[in-house]
Amino acid sequence: MRSTMMDAPLQVSRILDHGATVHGTAESVTWTGAEPHRMTYAEVGRAAARLAHGLRAECGVTGDERVATFMWNNNEHLVAYFAVPSMGAVLHTLNIRLFPDQVAYIANHAEDRVVLVDTTLIPLLARSIGAMTTVRHVVVVGGGDPAPLVEAAGDRIVVHRWDDLLAGRSDTYDWPEVNERDAAALCYTSGTTGNPKGVAYSHRSIYLHTLQVCMPEGFGLGPTDRELAIVPMFHAMSWGLPFATFLSGASLLMPDRFLQAAPIAEMIAAERPTLAGAVPTIWADLLNYLDTHEVDISSLKEVIVGGSACPPALMRAFAERYGIQVVHAWGMTEMSPLGSVSRPPAGATGEEAWRYRYTQGRIPAGVRARIVGPDGEPMSADGTSVGELEVRGPWVTARYVGEDTPDEEKFRGGWLRTGDVGMLSPDGFITLTDRAKDVIKSGGEWISSVELENALMAHPAVLEACVVGVPDERWDERPLATVVVREGASVDAEELRDFLSASVARWQLPERWAFIDAVPKTSVGKFDKKVVRSRYADGELT
Ligand code: ADP
Repeated sequence: MRSTMMDAPLQVSRILDHGATVHGTAESVTWTGAEPHRMTYAEVGRAAARLAHGLRAECGVTGDERVATFMWNNNEHLVAYFAVPSMGAVLHTLNIRLFPDQVAYIANHAEDRVVLVDTTLIPLLARSIGAMTTVRHVVVVGGGDPAPLVEAAGDRIVVHRWDDLLAGRSDTYDWPEVNERDAAALCYTSGTTGNPKGVAYSHRSIYLHTLQVCMPEGFGLGPTDRELAIVPMFHAMSWGLPFATFLSGASLLMPDRFLQAAPIAEMIAAERPTLAGAVPTIWADLLNYLDTHEVDISSLKEVIVGGSACPPALMRAFAERYGIQVVHAWGMTEMSPLGSVSRPPAGATGEEAWRYRYTQGRIPAGVRARIVGPDGEPMSADGTSVGELEVRGPWVTARYVGEDTPDEEKFRGGWLRTGDVGMLSPDGFITLTDRAKDVIKSGGEWISSVELENALMAHPAVLEACVVGVPDERWDERPLATVVVREGASVDAEELRDFLSASVARWQLPERWAFIDAVPKTSVGKFDKKVVRSRYADGELT
């Protein structure tokens, strides 16, 4: 029997219209280092209409052309987030921190026609635009000199100014009805191995994912919240926060290029966010800064930490010193990205609640998860069997852009292979021990690099610790610990080995150590284990 329900498509323009009208007084704020730039959601809605008209009239965007952004988290980027998908085109968020040849590769692969660029990023875009073969239009946001772009790309591109493109255009746009299964946005993985791979989110997947992000068991957004989105809009769609704020009516605060601990602390004190989202390294920096600076961050109730494993010591420090709950979340670009969020179940208190918080969290109804063995055989979700995590669901990609059939390395029988290793409990909590490629295989046994890192980062003198496997004649691989010592503190390998031996089996203790100034980071701020492996592989033996 067919339902009697209306066949109204789930589409991004609905989220925009809802935010711009029902939550029209909510605000979107860009930190500028001086006077913040504020827009109401109603103004964002009007600007989105004007941008869509401008893109159509001046850049010939009439169908599903790709419109790329090369931008920080700011109001104009937010306007593009809504305008481009709403008009039926495809938003492509380029990762500004990739190497220029990778950026060009991605833009060509996606067949980007237009690039919107922040004025402060013109010199960076100029390094790849010459090799972008499909780009015809560049829209510069701000007053910077576009000459470097023209020099690099010649008359292949037409340069427009954002303000001119929007000037005099209608404040309303009759957003078309789209097929909800069509692409609305594109994001490429950061390509730690091989070329980056593209994921095309549909209007439907974004809508469903946005509902989940807003849920109390998700990030729990509502109209009284102010969400600080530090996670870049080019990294897995800023975890869906731009869409979730419009759907829920929460205000959205964005740091633009001011990503150091000092301006972030200043922004928190001034703009009083209630929620915030970023990778662990950002929070570790902020915590370190707060130790020596008096800043009022009391508005924050919760911070979402994801993208890599959150060290328990970081969670405890925020809770115990500042009364802020750190909520651990796990996800992937391939999953829109939300996979799981660690909120303890009803009744769990004290240390039991902490044990839940340390996990990667509980999967929602929209994500099915299973653990499989080396040959793909499903294993028991008993909370102890260890294997690779596989997922499926309406906001999980089924293949990469440009592939006719799913790549067998990443997809198996309709499931996405996450490359993450861990356990799944009967009540849906995921505990990851490592990425498959980072697990240290020592004498036939597995050592979790994350477990060693977490234990090391619990030492008061340790600011950062990154552990990788390095080749070893006798054991195949052994752990190498790279450690950044907190300013003013001192510690040596022997003391750290002693400290570790309280929580880690003896045979897992690293004998190779390197004391370094900073752990190299990936384009999205995670520990870059590939670089650590190659740079410090011959750490000193203790
Ligand atoms: P990239 O692969 O370029 O780092 P993604 O952000 O898509 O880009 O990375 C997804 C991966 O990040 C996951 O497969 C997992 O390995 C890791 N990850 C994300 N969140 C967590 C978390 N909370 N704990 C451990 N690992 C995480």
